[in-house]
Amino acid sequence: MQDIIQLLPDNIANQIAAGEVIQRPASAVKELLENAVDAGATRIQLIINDAGKALVQVIDNGKGMSETDARMAFERHATSKIRDIEDLFRIKTMGFRGEALASIAAVAQVTLKTRRAEDELGTHIDIENSRVVNQEPCAAEVGTNISMKNLFFNVPARRNFLKSNAAEMRHIVDEFIRVAMAFPSIFFSLSANGQELFHLEAGNHKQRIVQILGSTYTAKLVPVHEKTDYLTISGFIGKPETARKTRGDQYFFVNNRYIKSAYLNHAVNAAFDGIIPNDSFPGYVLYIDLDPAQIDINVHPTKQEIKFEDEKIIYAFIQAAVKHALAQFSIAPSLDFSLNADIQQLDAVSKPFTNEQQQATISSGLYQTFSRSHQAHAIEPTEKSGLGDWRAYFKESSIANRQSEEKQVPDSRFQIEDSGNSFLQINNTYILVNHSRGFLVVHQQLAHERVLYEKFSAAMHNQQAATQQLLFPVTLELAAPDAALLQDMLSDLIQIGYLVEPFGTNSFVIQGCPADVITGNEKNTIELLIEQFKHFSSDVKYSKREKLVRCMARQQSIKAGQSLSEKEMQSLVNDLFACTTPNISPNGSPTYIEFKEEYLDRMFGK
Ligand code: ADP
Ligand code: MG
Repeated sequence: MQDIIQLLPDNIANQIAAGEVIQRPASAVKELLENAVDAGATRIQLIINDAGKALVQVIDNGKGMSETDARMAFERHATSKIRDIEDLFRIKTMGFRGEALASIAAVAQVTLKTRRAEDELGTHIDIENSRVVNQEPCAAEVGTNISMKNLFFNVPARRNFLKSNAAEMRHIVDEFIRVAMAFPSIFFSLSANGQELFHLEAGNHKQRIVQILGSTYTAKLVPVHEKTDYLTISGFIGKPETARKTRGDQYFFVNNRYIKSAYLNHAVNAAFDGIIPNDSFPGYVLYIDLDPAQIDINVHPTKQEIKFEDEKIIYAFIQAAVKHALAQFSIAPSLDFSLNADIQQLDAVSKPFTNEQQQATISSGLYQTFSRSHQAHAIEPTEKSGLGDWRAYFKESSIANRQSEEKQVPDSRFQIEDSGNSFLQINNTYILVNHSRGFLVVHQQLAHERVLYEKFSAAMHNQQAATQQLLFPVTLELAAPDAALLQDMLSDLIQIGYLVEPFGTNSFVIQGCPADVITGNEKNTIELLIEQFKHFSSDVKYSKREKLVRCMARQQSIKAGQSLSEKEMQSLVNDLFACTTPNISPNGSPTYIEFKEEYLDRMFGK
């Protein structure tokens, strides 16, 4: 038998490795922008065509590269940013792995033009599939101009995997914003298909935040600033009135690197406890700076997570700093700030933590809940007891359904008593419905979700729902990524009766809402929709329209806890039994449970 193991050719090995770093156009955007920042540029332009699928180009006025470096830059593990292992603990640059350019060159066609100030001529390199196809001296501006064309031209499977242009563009805008927000002293611009979307003049943090998040934030930002030997936190929190139903405007930067942390996010939210409604999210842009040795950024290149030497301290510190800022601006009582138990911990921030203290903290319940894989408030799915049995039960009942459907009399199964006491609300959640052969317990929210779900689905697939024009159209200002998301939903929203129109950059006007909805709540509805949609968006099981319909049904439904009049109960129950599938909510829970007379009799031994 022949031996069968072979070394992979370099370009294939590179393509495989590139998968880690370059997953979509936005990954290249992040890497190229960061390289420009690391090169000391003061002006950085990002040019996009076809949502980055055709072109991602970054032009900077940084220090440029020598001819040899320009060639070397595309080798895997080629970096000018670390020399030895110790350097890993004092990283001040955005990049350090030396993988980005090698990865990009493995999966796209790349053109690089670069010149250093001290060189008369610059270097021009064309490279594709990890191979240099052309290299020559050229005239060039000082700095670097790099284009990535036709991403995944040589890996069709991955190219097919890319999402719609709107979705890919949203990722690009997200990455752009994260870098631009971290470096306000650098000019940034973003053009897509020849149209300039962002033009961000150099300025201070506050100016940059307002430039990006929109002028609704002018005069509504409260500065945060606390400094100790251990760390500095600075930035801004939105005043309570800027809190939204959507999580859009929340940014953390650690040593200028954008990070995602449910744990630290929880610290800010906790500081706003009691100041804004429970279902709202405060806006914030917070910059944390600390000794690079205290953090571990040596994690996966595309994961925006970070490990802190001592996360508990950072949590307490952020919460305290935000409370302090709120108190100073008389938004929260200052008492609240000084008496907070977490503040006691601050002591530990300036003094070194002793081993004993550390042990005590780590074994505390609070620490354990929070440190569990960054999921501070993840809710574990709980098995609903007895649901299994009900499922079996409801199978029968849906067969009964289908039969009755054929007869075109979907609600004839239950002769609902028309006497005055047919409907009884229990706990403002359940509706007890009397019928000729027993009674039903209907869950009002789940039932209404089913009703709305079928109504919206019908509108989506058949005729457009009727719209009522709003007397006072409402404007909606969104963060850029949310705006891109909403833009993508406009035509579907019209189908179900919401008339929303673009109105300048990242703004929209709500002109109308479904004819049978009480007006006045449109802004909330759309914001909530965006928020829910985001959580849903990783769910590939459903189409975009299906997600929209499901979100809307959930959102507009009568909620558990809402008191209903006799009439409202009656019309809900009637609507429910006019549904094609009345017995199951869109998420698969039962909408009602039936107690048959025979069953009741049996229970009583009769
Ligand atoms: P890393 O940024 O991790 O070092 P990259 O693959 O992104 O790895 O870049 C490799 C090297 O190429 C960098 O270390 C830097 O020396 C050089 N380089 C990349 N982009 C630029 C740029 N825009 N200007 C100057 N030098 C650059
Ligand atoms: Mg880099």
